Amino acid sequence: MLLITDERMKFHDPGRDHPESPERLGAVTEALDGVSDSTWAKPEPASREQIERVHTAEYVDRVERFRGRSGALDPDTSTSPQSVEAAYLAAGAALDAVTEVVSGHYRHAWALVRPPGHHAEADAARGFCLFNNVAIAAAHARDELGSDRVLIVDWDVHHGNGTQHSFYDRDDVLFFSLHRYPFFPGTGAAGETGRGAGQGYTVNVPFPGGQGDGDYLAAFEALLVPIADRFAPDLVLVSAGFDAHRRDPLGGMDVTEDGYGAMAAVVQRVAERHADGRVVLLLEGGYDLAALGGSVRRCVDVLNGAPAPAIGSPSAQGQNVIAGLVDLHRPKWGL
Ligand SMILES: [Zn+2]
Repeated sequence: MLLITDERMKFHDPGRDHPESPERLGAVTEALDGVSDSTWAKPEPASREQIERVHTAEYVDRVERFRGRSGALDPDTSTSPQSVEAAYLAAGAALDAVTEVVSGHYRHAWALVRPPGHHAEADAARGFCLFNNVAIAAAHARDELGSDRVLIVDWDVHHGNGTQHSFYDRDDVLFFSLHRYPFFPGTGAAGETGRGAGQGYTVNVPFPGGQGDGDYLAAFEALLVPIADRFAPDLVLVSAGFDAHRRDPLGGMDVTEDGYGAMAAVVQRVAERHADGRVVLLLEGGYDLAALGGSVRRCVDVLNGAPAPAIGSPSAQGQNVIAGLVDLHRPKWGL
């Protein structure tokens, strides 16, 4: 497994007491200390052209004006003097990760980055995110690396609005998101399923809050696995946030390290069946430092061959949500 990170991403400082703190990256790298079967690398910054596959030139110009200074791109998204450099490195880490995995040098890669990306829209920063790292990586895989079908799994507790909107009318990038709903950023209802050629290629799993390992795994088995079997992705990307952890201060969910490890195992199984095992993960949210580090470590260990944790049954509430979604997506995906 390839692990890509850079100390310079710690210089992105959104301000005192901000949950998306520089310490998050230190918690992750400490938790991965001594991990086996892994190689560490530093990223190249993304180029402007690579970022403009997803973002408008006007928006990139706006971000550039924040280079070297403190300011606010959006009420939740503040910059310090080195934030823009960090954002280019985060997107670059995502690009390097897909390039190394698609070229066959590594089966798995993880871009351990901040700022996170999945809330960033084509023309706007949002929710601690400057550039949409996962969308930029998916677009690069499609346009430059010869990927035909990319599956994006987003298990961050918040809906990946920016990622959904980047591919909403396309049938070559399938976006599958589990999240709390209604919740920030307000999108991610079950009925948001794509548009035009993309109809059916957005699958949202909106959980009301409080759901845990059994619910997430049941949604994976009832929806993600059979849909991925039809879609047959040749690359699997994961927007891996850990703010659905039961100790997270923002999420209000009940997922544990075991749950994340089990989710990673299912993603790996999907990738092995269709994509020569190619999985690229990107760090998104996760605001309890110990829960974040422990969860990332569990996922890496599982992807490196540790047994998948056993997970219990879903709650009645979780089963209810999943049953409704199976009905909704049955016509398109033959569930
Ligand atoms: Zn989040």
